[in-house]
Amino acid sequence: MVTRIILVLFIISGHSTPENLLARMPSREKQKGKSPILLAIFAHPDDELLTGAALAHYAAKNAKVYVAIATDGALGTTDFANIPAGSRLVAARQEEMKCSAKALGLEPPIFIGLPDQMNAATGGLPAQLDTLRRAVSSLLTTLKPDVIVTFGAEGWTGHPDHLLTGTIVTEVFASRQWPGNPKLYFSALPTGSITKTSWAKYRTVDSSYLTIKVSLDEADYLKLRAAFNCHQSQYRETVRQKLPVFLENTQNHVAMFRPFLHNKVIGNSLFE
Ligand SMILES: [Zn+2]
Repeated sequence: MVTRIILVLFIISGHSTPENLLARMPSREKQKGKSPILLAIFAHPDDELLTGAALAHYAAKNAKVYVAIATDGALGTTDFANIPAGSRLVAARQEEMKCSAKALGLEPPIFIGLPDQMNAATGGLPAQLDTLRRAVSSLLTTLKPDVIVTFGAEGWTGHPDHLLTGTIVTEVFASRQWPGNPKLYFSALPTGSITKTSWAKYRTVDSSYLTIKVSLDEADYLKLRAAFNCHQSQYRETVRQKLPVFLENTQNHVAMFRPFLHNKVIGNSLFE
């Protein structure tokens, strides 16, 4: 699977930037007029929805936006979809993910294909994490993204796959310098923004750490609503309608991100 990703990604080329990214682009790149590349890496087919309005926003601003999904979602059964765990559900969720990416204006999704919950008969969790490390490394090398977005320590819902995916992306990112000097951001909701207790299961981050605030348009949330409608095996119709409204109201049209490094302080003491 990783080899296939590499082969596919080698035929993809081009990058540059909109908005705040423009400032740090070499003039040579600006002159070429290439699109900047945003790569989001999440755990499940439907995780893109949590950051979907921001992804749609940048895609509409001429960025090339890719979403890579770590696991195959084979265990995501629901009592209303009537699709058993396994290959039929994997196929259904891949179609839903493609539909969602299209609705958000993104590039076709990249499926890394780890087993759901990173369970595997051979090698167990350590082998799955190694596969994810190699896949993330290949994506950073071949796509050369300007920006990478993934889960932070809170993982939005706290799902272990979210935590592991965000951790491995961060580990791979921090292990060396990458082509194009990408920036890494963690997408999150600010603490205190969830006003209804029924949605309180979401983990949040204090807004003082969420230093990147991206203003979104109504059009971005309209695309998010369409994307939610794609994931029919995961959400009942009522939830497909409620969740994007919850996100729009909670974000108040501002998507927040925590940069990997808040500031690069060089020092020689932990306490100063
Ligand atoms: Zn998920």
